[in-house]
Amino acid sequence: MRLAFLPLLIIALFAPTERPEGASGEAAVTLIRAGTLLDGRSGPPRHDQAIVVRGQRIEAVGDASSTRVPAGAAIIDLSSSTVLPGLVDSHTHVFLQGEDPKEGGYDAQLLMAPLALRAVRAAVSARRALEQGFTTIRDVETEGAGYGDVGIKEAIEKGYIPGPRMLVVTRAISTTGGYPLEGYAPEVDVPKGAQLVDGPVEARKAAREQLDHGADWIKVYMTHRSWVDAKGGLVSQPTLTVEELKAIVDEAHGWQRKVACHAYGGEGLHRALDGGCDSIEHGLDLDDAAVAQMVRQGTWYCPTLGVYYEGWAPEGTPAGRRDRKRAEVHGPSFQKALKAGVRIVFGTDVGGFSWSEPIAAEFSRMVELGMSPAAALRSATSVPAEMLGLAGQVGVVAPGAYADVVAVRGDPLKDVKELERVGFVMKDGVTFKNELAKPGP
Ligand SMILES: [Zn+2]
Repeated sequence: MRLAFLPLLIIALFAPTERPEGASGEAAVTLIRAGTLLDGRSGPPRHDQAIVVRGQRIEAVGDASSTRVPAGAAIIDLSSSTVLPGLVDSHTHVFLQGEDPKEGGYDAQLLMAPLALRAVRAAVSARRALEQGFTTIRDVETEGAGYGDVGIKEAIEKGYIPGPRMLVVTRAISTTGGYPLEGYAPEVDVPKGAQLVDGPVEARKAAREQLDHGADWIKVYMTHRSWVDAKGGLVSQPTLTVEELKAIVDEAHGWQRKVACHAYGGEGLHRALDGGCDSIEHGLDLDDAAVAQMVRQGTWYCPTLGVYYEGWAPEGTPAGRRDRKRAEVHGPSFQKALKAGVRIVFGTDVGGFSWSEPIAAEFSRMVELGMSPAAALRSATSVPAEMLGLAGQVGVVAPGAYADVVAVRGDPLKDVKELERVGFVMKDGVTFKNELAKPGP
């Protein structure tokens, strides 16, 4: 492999002395050698590439043999690795930790944990995302931690803690009877994991508050409880009315922001689509009409498959039947959407399960259900970039994009599990993790 870079090496050694770089304040320059480059778009893999990074952006990408090493460039040799754009998880919860029911579960987070403790744990979660190669996340609500996500995002942007680029939704919105905590005596006031609204006026006001306090997206719960009915079908309780959702969507779109709707199926799912939501989260039980409407309206689909295959309640209990039914209908829904050409983005719901588990395990679920590894990879790179309004900025290795670059040892197009073993992570041009690169010359 090293031979392939001989011309580049020679250029590096014999490049004429140039005006010294690095007069203080000038952007650092790095050259990354990529054995194979998957640039996040639809083209074929390219071999023996060189990526020039200046400051926080990618300046140039080209054949290693014809790319001139900029004067003063640090060299990162990934010539034995597959290099790809930083990954995007479009459905995370840094303020959840896969709460163990034995330790009080979700309720204990809201009732017992001081906000500072939750914030510190969220910072650890953010770091975990970055370690695993996820350089951008859409974090879809703080679960009772208010506007904490805006603070975590700011701490990352200001360099106090390492973490991915974050798009945050703050508190999320549901209705009375539409979100935990629940099951307590009616006389006891308990905190809720989302902002509850009733009526279009309250709905619009909640959206305004959240946007005012820094929400990049609005997240709405369009279904809540679910169960298996007498006919054996999965039923989900709808929450907001179309009228309520339309007030939120209208407000968010006015701010040029988008609305993500948690919706499993049935009435709540159809209200989400009729109300004009931009992305369907989970979408466990998509009927044909919903799929057709999603194609027509260009609705994004963030299926979060893996989380529904674990942590089932005991068999034979109502909750156990529900959990098994959810997994049973989810796969066919995903396949229907895939076949129809719905725009699918990679999302995991991590936080709903522990941040110590591999986030990239979701890729295997998508591929098992018929998505090609290349398409699965695009669902976590250039496709969500478009959804997030960051096309050309993230999710691609191309000139002008942020220098968010990761690498794995093997070929993820042959085995997507390679993505569970990210060994190199650069974000904004700064190397965060490097277990792959050989030392530069
Ligand atoms: Zn979620």
